[in-house]
Amino acid sequence: MNWREPAIKFALQATNREVLREIQLIESLERAPPAKILELQQQRLERLLLHAWNNTDYYHDVLESCGAVRGGAVNLDRFEDIPFLTKDIIRTQGKRLWAQKMPDGRRVEVITSGGTTGVPIRFPQDNVHWALNMGTRIYQFGVLGKRLGDSEIKIWGNEGDLNKGTHGILKRVENYIYNRRYQGAWYLSEERIKEIIEEINVWRPKLLWCFRDGIDAVAKYINSHGIAMHRPAAIVLGGSTVYPFVVKTIEQAFRSPVLSAYGSREVGGVACECLARNGHHISSNLAVIETINADGQTVMEQEAELTITALANYAFPFIRYRLGDRGLLTKRQCTCGRTFPLLGSVSGRLVEAFVNSRGEQIDPLYFIMSFRMSWDAGTLRQYQVVQELDGSLTINLVPETGFNKTTVGLDYDDITRKIRSVMGENCVVRFDIVSEIPLSPSGKFPYIVRRQ
Ligand SMILES: [Zn+2]
Repeated sequence: MNWREPAIKFALQATNREVLREIQLIESLERAPPAKILELQQQRLERLLLHAWNNTDYYHDVLESCGAVRGGAVNLDRFEDIPFLTKDIIRTQGKRLWAQKMPDGRRVEVITSGGTTGVPIRFPQDNVHWALNMGTRIYQFGVLGKRLGDSEIKIWGNEGDLNKGTHGILKRVENYIYNRRYQGAWYLSEERIKEIIEEINVWRPKLLWCFRDGIDAVAKYINSHGIAMHRPAAIVLGGSTVYPFVVKTIEQAFRSPVLSAYGSREVGGVACECLARNGHHISSNLAVIETINADGQTVMEQEAELTITALANYAFPFIRYRLGDRGLLTKRQCTCGRTFPLLGSVSGRLVEAFVNSRGEQIDPLYFIMSFRMSWDAGTLRQYQVVQELDGSLTINLVPETGFNKTTVGLDYDDITRKIRSVMGENCVVRFDIVSEIPLSPSGKFPYIVRRQ
């Protein structure tokens, strides 16, 4: 019997009631008419705007001048007139974005973002955001078949997170009760990969929650050694763009569905795929997600830049925040019957995308596919495409042991031709053979690097 579920609920009831309330709220809405979901989202948005107008210098000025809040009255019809929040604004406005006063009972903690998109930012986050985010995550994983207290392994690429999640007796007790284990994946030697495989097979977790590149490396090892694996109910990937070929590799290794969860440290886990895989269900209780075109207009049904408004963090309002990702919003409904709106795809994060001489953005998948044949043939271990400051491309290749630049099986002329057809005929393309490509400090494997 799963004794953990009642134990966790009891503990949450005593210490973090909002978590349970949020789970109930989301469950009550998951098949409701879309208008009902929108109503909750708009109520929360109104409250956030009013709080921001009342308590932050920056938003007082900005909301007043665009008309979204005037003299204390919120007008949601002017929401799309609110200027976007960018990392530059966060850096230049500093404390003018921090709330000077918080509603009763909200406690604040200062967070540093991972900095995968350049310079990390520091901002405060409050406990209600934390609780609503946690409730949403528990719900999202519940949809995938993991109940509270079912076992999970987090295969994590970020050393800081892992230390925070495992350090101290309280965390150890919490992890025991939640039935959760951690495996670090920022450095994966063959020994580490074998340890992770062994733990999955011995402990048999219901769910794996992973950084893309850690589990991808483990899956490749499993596939190349033909190891029989325990089959989790679901494998959730977060933190990076989830490419179809990565999903394929992991599904081959585990024969379990691989799902993408979308979110960030700033805004929380705002969308997650369900098993029907028609896109990411947006957690409208937690966020407003918009897509905007190059002119800053909101659009639907086309790939564009995402902006996110985080509805619960009153300590630092993220309103129409351009966090540097791209995606596609669709009016389609999911076949699973849940009515939360869909974020059809999250594609190339901006930092992982290239810009050609005409200023057009090129999806990283285009480049990555050029190396697929050698990858599948097992002659290539790693590859990375770097766009240098002068616009030229350096392609770093790590051949498998026993292979070299010639025998790795790449048609360099053909790849160069394909690259020039999108990047421009004068684009300089270099191929470098290197012995290793290190992971980034946040534990991600950078397939695509744009020097900036
Ligand atoms: Zn669905």
